[in-house]
Amino acid sequence: MHNISITQTKNNKQKPKDEALVFGRQFTDHMFLMDYKEGEGWYDARIVPYQPLEMDPAAMIFHYGQTVFEGLKAYRTKDDTIQLFRPEENVKRLNRSNARMCIPEVDEDIALEAIKTLVDLDRDWVPHKEGTSLYIRPFVIATEPYLGVSASKTYTFMIILSPVGAYYDAGIDPVKIAVENDYIRAVKGGTGEAKTAGNYAGSMIAQENVAKKGYAQVLWLDGHEKKYIEEVGSMNVFFKIDGKVITPHLSGSILPGVTRKSVIQLLMDWGIEVQERPILLSEVLTAHANGLLEEAFGSGTAAVISPIGELFYNETSYVINNHQTGALSKRVYDTLTGIQYGTIVDPHDWIVKVNPK
Ligand SMILES: *Cc1c(COP(=O)(O)O)cnc(C)c1O
Repeated sequence: MHNISITQTKNNKQKPKDEALVFGRQFTDHMFLMDYKEGEGWYDARIVPYQPLEMDPAAMIFHYGQTVFEGLKAYRTKDDTIQLFRPEENVKRLNRSNARMCIPEVDEDIALEAIKTLVDLDRDWVPHKEGTSLYIRPFVIATEPYLGVSASKTYTFMIILSPVGAYYDAGIDPVKIAVENDYIRAVKGGTGEAKTAGNYAGSMIAQENVAKKGYAQVLWLDGHEKKYIEEVGSMNVFFKIDGKVITPHLSGSILPGVTRKSVIQLLMDWGIEVQERPILLSEVLTAHANGLLEEAFGSGTAAVISPIGELFYNETSYVINNHQTGALSKRVYDTLTGIQYGTIVDPHDWIVKVNPK
């Protein structure tokens, strides 16, 4: 047990109706904070009413973007247990992102306990309707007021919570994806492996451009040769070709998704061959031409699985599985969500329950 002080709100907010939930626009009654000072380490772990921050305009986060974040969810089961999916993976990844961005590591036990304590306090905010959840956003920002380019000497680690609606209203829906030929998301040696704000700021222009043409996301290629497939939007990507599944290996410019890791494990459990390796875009297009590209999907915490119904590249559309959700995509989706919502057994101890009431 670590020492987290709790100041409860006196004004509980009105909770949105489960039917009216959107992604990331409403926040719960409380938030977690913990500060860091060079020489002192992390101190003052506390939960307080959700509120704006007061910050120095010279705080280094505003100027040099020294920050990392995480994203995971709390799920409500039928018997009203509140549970998390592999949260220790998110905490470990937070620290890998921290290391890349010269941010001091957070004690993993404290971070995990902070998540559990905050979710427990705001557990009534975990929505009930099927497919809904409570999104958990841990993040760290550099707070030192200093305009020199160097690592900040002070930081704040925070966690906020947002009730979110079902990603799919009427069953999983395949999306159209455009291959991105101009912009790149990340290069080896860059920050693509870290969940840090700049990666997302830098990729918005590509997303805006393809959205105008009716595509949901971009398919990112590698930054050196623009030949290899990396990710789809802010999801990892899988292809089923001639019965086997392939996904780009963690080359240094790819975000190591918790969903990705879980999908690979499930496929292995089912005896399906899965390869993590470099994937040429041309290999996927050739498989399509030969009728061997059976399914493609993105993976990430928000959508879990997002089937790709069409790829657009060089003025040509490549329709995948007749714009339908493939059987394997559906099986992975049903299994992962089943484990998350407690309707099917969790064979790998992925679930962490939040202190039962
Ligand atoms: C967060 C993220 C993912 C997915 O990671 P999960 O842990 O599965 O949610 C994939 N790619 C990018 C760029 C991301 O930011």
